[in-house]
Amino acid sequence: MQRIILKPGRERPVTNGHPWIFSGAIESVEGDPEAPGVAEVFDGKKNWLACGLYNPKSQIRVRLLTWKKEPIDGHFFSRRINQALALRRDHLAAKTNAYRLVNGEGDFLPGLIADRYGNFFVCEFFTAGMELFKDDIVAALSALESVDGIFEKSEGRVRDEEGLEPSVGVLAGAAPPDSIVIEENGFTFLVDVRRGQKTGFFLDQRDSRAFLANAARRRTVLNCFSYSGAFSVYAFGGGAKEVISIDSSRPALELAEKNLALNGFGAKAELLKGDAFAYLKECDTAFDVIVLDPPSLAHKRSDVTAATGGYKFLNLHALKHLEPGGLLLTFSCSQHLSIDLFQKVVFGAAVDARRKVSVIKRLGQPIDHPVSLHHPEGEYLKGLALRAVD
Ligand code: SAH
Repeated sequence: MQRIILKPGRERPVTNGHPWIFSGAIESVEGDPEAPGVAEVFDGKKNWLACGLYNPKSQIRVRLLTWKKEPIDGHFFSRRINQALALRRDHLAAKTNAYRLVNGEGDFLPGLIADRYGNFFVCEFFTAGMELFKDDIVAALSALESVDGIFEKSEGRVRDEEGLEPSVGVLAGAAPPDSIVIEENGFTFLVDVRRGQKTGFFLDQRDSRAFLANAARRRTVLNCFSYSGAFSVYAFGGGAKEVISIDSSRPALELAEKNLALNGFGAKAELLKGDAFAYLKECDTAFDVIVLDPPSLAHKRSDVTAATGGYKFLNLHALKHLEPGGLLLTFSCSQHLSIDLFQKVVFGAAVDARRKVSVIKRLGQPIDHPVSLHHPEGEYLKGLALRAVD
């Protein structure tokens, strides 16, 4: 176990409960400075502050797990996981068997994501510290009710930044089938955890899809960046008369086609493979409802300025193609773009499109993607429901 001594005056974020300690705040490391592990954190006067996971290869040197003196072991992880489960049990609709059980910092388990798809879990271990507790975490998840298997899908940019190789495969129990059938608010979807994007399904848009279903009756809908067609299924479910789904990924569209058919909307659906930016600019029809759910356009803080151009382009052209009284659901899933900045970008788009628009609702992460009050950076998904006056 390492002891991390902070520079004088750098303890404030820690005592306020922020889970990250950057390299620049650290005065010294006692114990092996090269090995990842459990670390106790002290202020400059050697007062004990908190305990977390240390990784010498990451700019975020320590991710804090607890501000109480307690052992970090299998019991600790099991308790946190069961607390996370209690939150979901208390607040999720019964007709939903797919949800994020562990949302990293939001569940006070930084570096861990665990998504539940029916009887399977798909986990992402993002940090060298969490890697050390993989067996304990797998044991805690396996002990939950009705678990057939646990699959790992740890890959991508955060893992690179932590100096970790990708790691994908079965961790425990049965291998998941090629498509897992899940239920969300009474709709049925196929989830391909191996070939699908992220862990297989965008669980974070559940509430916004339900919002769309309520507003879709007898309306024409354009679903941009449709992935496996979830917004489109909800739109039809809500009584939309026409839904066009567009995505640049062929496998995503194939999955969308299956999902629409599975819910009984196969015959009505129109699926387009293409670039949503180009489609929005060039299309010559107007829609009652448009959904804009692009992938993150800003992966780093330094990308934000360039990304605002992309968001503005999308929103400008979407607003130009909205019928009077129409509804635009527009999102950014970039952690680095604040809701204030996003709203300013959309405002700029409305001005240029010469549309007058009301914000009728702010949209965002559902309850299974909680944000720690001490870590506002965890609020990555921002959305606006906008109504064009005329
Ligand atoms: N709304 C979806 C999630 C969208 S994820 C849901 O609720 O499930 C973003 C999607 O954008 C991905 O499916 C990706 O394939 C697609 N994509 C990325 N760039 C694109 C582009 N330029 N044009 C169209 N689709 C694109």
